[in-house]
Amino acid sequence: MKLPHPTVNGKIVGPTMHIYSIFQSVDGEVNHRGTGAMTTFIRTSGCSATCAYCDTRYAKDRDSGSDWEIQEIIKEVTFTGCPNITITGGEPFEQSTELIELLGALDDAGFSSVSIETNGYHPFNKQDYPFNTASFVVDLKLFGYVLLSNYINMNLDSTDFIKIVIGSFDDFHTAIKNKLYLQQNKVRANFAFSPMAGSDVTPDKLLIWMKEFHQFDAYLNTQLHKVLSLTEAN
Ligand code: SF4
Repeated sequence: MKLPHPTVNGKIVGPTMHIYSIFQSVDGEVNHRGTGAMTTFIRTSGCSATCAYCDTRYAKDRDSGSDWEIQEIIKEVTFTGCPNITITGGEPFEQSTELIELLGALDDAGFSSVSIETNGYHPFNKQDYPFNTASFVVDLKLFGYVLLSNYINMNLDSTDFIKIVIGSFDDFHTAIKNKLYLQQNKVRANFAFSPMAGSDVTPDKLLIWMKEFHQFDAYLNTQLHKVLSLTEAN
């Protein structure tokens, strides 16, 4: 079901989304296209989670961005000519109604490769998303209360990723236990392990653990943009 775009005197009005920035770069995280694919990022503003390792604090406040009409966003991303889109945040699902509207508008505009990064705190069912162009990268955070059944109910498929940030060997152990449980419960998403920035877990150490514990169906998520010291401006 696509939501109709309301018009007044032929001019498209609302809805709007709080957007922090729109920019082009490599997608440095796992995604269905492969790490390193060029993409246009749409960074929403506003995230109420409190991850100690957050590297996008500047976009956490809802007011850090500005209001964009959905059709203005489409105009901007079309102008760049890049066929790939990555919606990130902040937390896109904190504007879930508008997110569905944006996905519909991207679909209408012919964007057939959209990746949505989300923190996993907003249970959703992929089957409720009527557009076949979107794949999800969902965090599974190991601190606080983790409700694994939410991930079972998301109905993720082999184009989606569940990403787990690893800050210690204990984290790694918990991550592989959770992965096994979800796989036994028919979760078909790919799993990616990401070394926590600023922790003792380096990519090579994590790779050794992955080999030692036979995690041959998992991905090592090295955050290419950090390896290259990329910012939104370069
Ligand atoms: S969910 Fe993402 S944006 Fe929100 S606080 Fe955690 S790392 Fe930062």
